[in-house]
Amino acid sequence: GPVDIECDMLVLGAGPGGYSAAFRSADLGMKTILVERYGTLGGVCLNVGCIPSKALLHNAAVIDEVAHLASNGIKFGKPEVDIDALRGYKEKVINKLTGGLAGMAKMRKVEQVRGIGAFLDAYHMEVQLSSGTGKDLTGEKKVVKFKQAIIAAGSQAVKLPFIPNDPRIVDSTGALELKSVPKRMLIIGGGIIGLEMGTVYSTLGARLDVVELSNGLMQGADRDLVKVWQDWNKHRFDNIMLESKTTSIEPKEDGVWVTFEGPKVPEGPQCYDLVLYSTGRAPNGKKIGADKAGVYVDERGFIPTDKQMRTNVPHIFAIGDIIGQPMLAHKAVHEAHVAAENAAGHKAFFDARVIPGVAYTDPEVAWVGLTEDQAKKDGIKITKGVFPWAASGRAIANGRDEGFTKLIFDAENGQILGGAIVGPHAGDMIGEVCLGIEMGADAVDIGKTIHPHPTMGESIGMAAEVAKGVCT
Ligand code: FAD
Repeated sequence: GPVDIECDMLVLGAGPGGYSAAFRSADLGMKTILVERYGTLGGVCLNVGCIPSKALLHNAAVIDEVAHLASNGIKFGKPEVDIDALRGYKEKVINKLTGGLAGMAKMRKVEQVRGIGAFLDAYHMEVQLSSGTGKDLTGEKKVVKFKQAIIAAGSQAVKLPFIPNDPRIVDSTGALELKSVPKRMLIIGGGIIGLEMGTVYSTLGARLDVVELSNGLMQGADRDLVKVWQDWNKHRFDNIMLESKTTSIEPKEDGVWVTFEGPKVPEGPQCYDLVLYSTGRAPNGKKIGADKAGVYVDERGFIPTDKQMRTNVPHIFAIGDIIGQPMLAHKAVHEAHVAAENAAGHKAFFDARVIPGVAYTDPEVAWVGLTEDQAKKDGIKITKGVFPWAASGRAIANGRDEGFTKLIFDAENGQILGGAIVGPHAGDMIGEVCLGIEMGADAVDIGKTIHPHPTMGESIGMAAEVAKGVCT
């Protein structure tokens, strides 16, 4: 068939994985085409994920912080929230970043093709062109011939089949639209995304209920961290329903009525103004014609790769949410660089020891590598060092000493295997623990590193000192 454009590298999807892959490919001398359905670069993360959620969380954190100052003798009035202006702020943040990406793509001569792409075979992709924001298709098509390709088509929120269609029932994208502030909000699925959005709405005035199938919120993090978070946040919730599920969801005129089943659930149907379902995300692997290119997609829609990010078709790579958990932007970016470098003929491997996870709630909860709960489960002998922030001058001065820093070391050689922090800015601090693990640091290396005083960061050095005392 006719070919409209030829390139060395085709990247499908312009999320953090895709734009990073396209930029690195272009920097390494490949003529690169980036296919994206929507009108802006940045994918889920910039448009409806990491960034807008943080723009709202920042405002929520300041509102909470200001209220907290009352006990120090500093009183402000009740905040006046102009929700349209707040939404505008969030959009301004997104526009600044997506605009920046567009400039960087142009500078690198990465050509953008806007539309829905699907493979025709292992060297051709057909793109149904879209216009404007990407919601409408123009009816035109373009065929791109490529030498190599990187699939970065990402993931979408899972909508369980029993969840009805109603404007008051939303996924994270709908919640980020911030249409109004509900009086009562239900979060289905107590993971990071649900609790971040819940934090925003609660600070703006909503009462929260959360229903979670497993036995605890924020699965993956050690329970001692989650307990600190939960104690600090209990005022936001009417019901935290664990090991529980919804049995019916009925949109009515006066609200969405939901019934629950579980050991500690309110009796009878409950009425909500907003229901957020945040029960996980599914990869887009089955929607891109991968079979035509001979690329293997598993039954859930994930595309497995090797450590060079190659699919079973060696000149087609895959990265980001579409290849598996954890579905995180920083993982996608790292994989993007590995894929592009291999495509350019370098030898690169995904050999990161650890990938950090962060809940940007208040307080933040951050962890990386081996957790204490996992070590216990697997019978791994560890030495832990815990430094409570109640002993940190800075945390006390800030009026926020509820948190702690915990480091996990190999009991035999003292090497750091993991770390976890709960407290304001924990996410900014966890990077040092990541570096320690990648560098093979031990408790002495970290404990003898001079950290600035007074900072919460010095709690990492202190936690190592605590562990050293136990180690030797
Ligand atoms: P995506 O960002 O999903 O991008 C894929 C792109 O491909 C999309 O733009 C899509 O339109 C396009 N596409 C798909 N199929 C086609 C096709 N056939 N043709 C053309 N284009 C196509 N991660 C973090 O690390 N930190 C956070 O704080 C964080 N917060 C989050 C908050 C929320 C509410 C959500 C939903 C997610 C959050 N994440 C966060 C996860 C993060 O957004 C993802 O891990 C990340 O966006 C994955 O990047 P990606 O490049 O794999 O794919």
